[in-house]
Amino acid sequence: MDLLGNDFPYSTGALVGKHALVCGASKGIGAATAKMLAKAGASVTVCARNGEALIDLCEELAELGDGEHSSLILDLEDTSAIEDGVQLLLEERGPVHVLINNAGGPPGGPLLGNSVHDFEAPFKRHLHAAHTLTQLLVPSMIEEGYGRIIQIISTSVKEPIPNIGLSNTLRGAMASWAKSLSRELAPCITINNVLPGFTNTGRLESLASSIHQRTGKSIEDVHEGWMSQVPIERLIDPLETASAITFLALPASGGIRGVSLAVDGGRLRSI
Ligand code: NAD
Repeated sequence: MDLLGNDFPYSTGALVGKHALVCGASKGIGAATAKMLAKAGASVTVCARNGEALIDLCEELAELGDGEHSSLILDLEDTSAIEDGVQLLLEERGPVHVLINNAGGPPGGPLLGNSVHDFEAPFKRHLHAAHTLTQLLVPSMIEEGYGRIIQIISTSVKEPIPNIGLSNTLRGAMASWAKSLSRELAPCITINNVLPGFTNTGRLESLASSIHQRTGKSIEDVHEGWMSQVPIERLIDPLETASAITFLALPASGGIRGVSLAVDGGRLRSI
């Protein structure tokens, strides 16, 4: 499937005139989302710590759509950098209509082995960053009469995953935060979560290698173990996740609010 080519699932004009801020965009699901939003016509600001990767990505975005694309280099763990960066973005690029809250997942390992200090950085780059960004961007979304806020979290929101207890804890907090806001935000703004399953990105490779180091299992066996849990018997392509995220950014999704949508090939057993 060529999801950015002949199989692109939406109209290339669907998001013309909309400005999207995609966090954690230098690779993986964030980069795929930036591409799909650009292809749907949005102007995209890509945010991460790695400026070079963002410049390369902006060049790719320019090939995909006619929007104006830019980068915002910051560490999502640094609240004042977010405040300063977003202030400048609003002055230079105008309102943001679509906010994608996304960042790197916490390290794995037994929860009892984590000190409270281990919780700080992941909570800062996910929950604190999402909250700060939302507070900063909601006023202009209200003025524009259009807002879409989408968190990339994990299926662990519904079924905690063994041996990544810190991540499970964080994802539950993010989902509750988003659900609470879905009752508070103005009618023109929706907030929803996308829950990736086993998705073909660097994050999954690093989880496989940490399991290999801890258990001695080969990387191939780790993958096979994962695939035995997934009815579609393959990894998800990040562009498939991005397709779901893009749908939630469209005007047509305005009736969907406060949901957590799994893109996991059917792995979740719960309803
Ligand atoms: P990834 O590690 O490939 O990409 C994460 C992105 O966040 C990168 O662009 C990275 O540079 C950026 N980032 C990390 N820390 C940052 C910081 N402090 N400030 C700014 N940017 C920062 O991850 P991915 O596979 O694309 O996954 C995206 C999210 O979905 C993660 O939270 C991940 O844990 C979660 N998830 C992924 C999978 C999977 O199988 N890939 C499964 C379930 C959940």
